Amino acid sequence: MQPIQFIDLKAQQKTIRQKIDVAIQKVLDHGTYIMGPEVKEFETKLSDFCGAKHTISCSNGTDAIAFALMCKNIKAGDHVLVPSFTFAASAEVIAWFDAIPIFVDVDLKTFNMCPNHLEATIVDAKQKGQHVAGILTVDLFGQPVDYESINKIAYKHNLWIIDDAAQGFGGSLKGKKIGTLAEITTTSFFPAKPLGCYGDGGAIFTDNDEYANLMRSIRVHGQGSNKYDNVRIGMNGRLDTIQAAILLEKLAIFNEELIKRDEIAHRYTNALKDYAQTPHLIEGAFSAWAQYTLVLPNRDEVVASLKEVGVPSFVYYPMPLNLQVAYKHYPTGPYGTPNAEKLAKTVLSLPMHPYLDATTQDYIIDQTRNILLKKAA
Ligand SMILES: *Cc1c(COP(=O)(O)O)cnc(C)c1O
Repeated sequence: MQPIQFIDLKAQQKTIRQKIDVAIQKVLDHGTYIMGPEVKEFETKLSDFCGAKHTISCSNGTDAIAFALMCKNIKAGDHVLVPSFTFAASAEVIAWFDAIPIFVDVDLKTFNMCPNHLEATIVDAKQKGQHVAGILTVDLFGQPVDYESINKIAYKHNLWIIDDAAQGFGGSLKGKKIGTLAEITTTSFFPAKPLGCYGDGGAIFTDNDEYANLMRSIRVHGQGSNKYDNVRIGMNGRLDTIQAAILLEKLAIFNEELIKRDEIAHRYTNALKDYAQTPHLIEGAFSAWAQYTLVLPNRDEVVASLKEVGVPSFVYYPMPLNLQVAYKHYPTGPYGTPNAEKLAKTVLSLPMHPYLDATTQDYIIDQTRNILLKKAA
């Protein structure tokens, strides 16, 4: 058997390599490397895919969050609620603007921001006289956040919501695709994300015409009516034409890939649910399965045993963000982040990509089950 890949980008490339070669060749021929026709075409197709009125492609998923915060006119001293259990970028960009992330604890089953903790944190921050501006949700490991609950809380407290869907793009909630579940949604095309390119890339989705125009200006140094008319402070935040050309080919097979990921996740869950805590989806949620994550009390032993039998596994994330050196001086909710701390010690992600064949899936399942049975005995 070939060594098992945690994420197999080569297998995907094999299936579409010829198309990608042709697509790149086309860009080399026309030579419009910046904002070429493929960029516009990709944005249109992304809007068709997720149903958002506007798609603004951009440099990466981190900058995408900056675009969204700039639409919301984020200011120094604003407080923004962000989950404690996520990738650094979600909180990092808030700090770029000298705004303050407040870390909200997550739910032990969904791994996403817990609505009860969110509400308690808002009340606590307001009592302390802090200016709370908005909520930055993260669809962790691919599953949409419980937007019905979060929307109610946001409405009650007059807060905006930005959805960091770097892991969730492709997912949906009750038939509504991620990209339309919040006023502004951001995503990343980092190679290992469910929809990834061959470098850095990202996008922002919104139905708001004003925000879309603003972001198109910010993307090119705050451009006004022409290239040397600068009407605001912006940045260089564009997606390369070559990356857009590659992404067009990847988007064409994205739906099939999402279905395969979902099938694999359900096979894993059916086979392992009696031996470990398997991922819990909220009602009506379809996950993009950026990761398939178990919760295990003896996680570190299981990682070592899996490695011995050639099954790669990864820990996302070994430490909550609010305990890290760069973030530990920022506030948390009134009850701290016990759930995130517990998850950091117990989560384990198994190999997940659409090109895991049935034999490999069976091998991963059998080995994992054997190890869990032995550890439990
Ligand atoms: C990957 C990721 C990002 C950042 O995306 P980049 O394209 O690497 O900048 C932001 N948020 C989350 C939750 C991510 O997983």
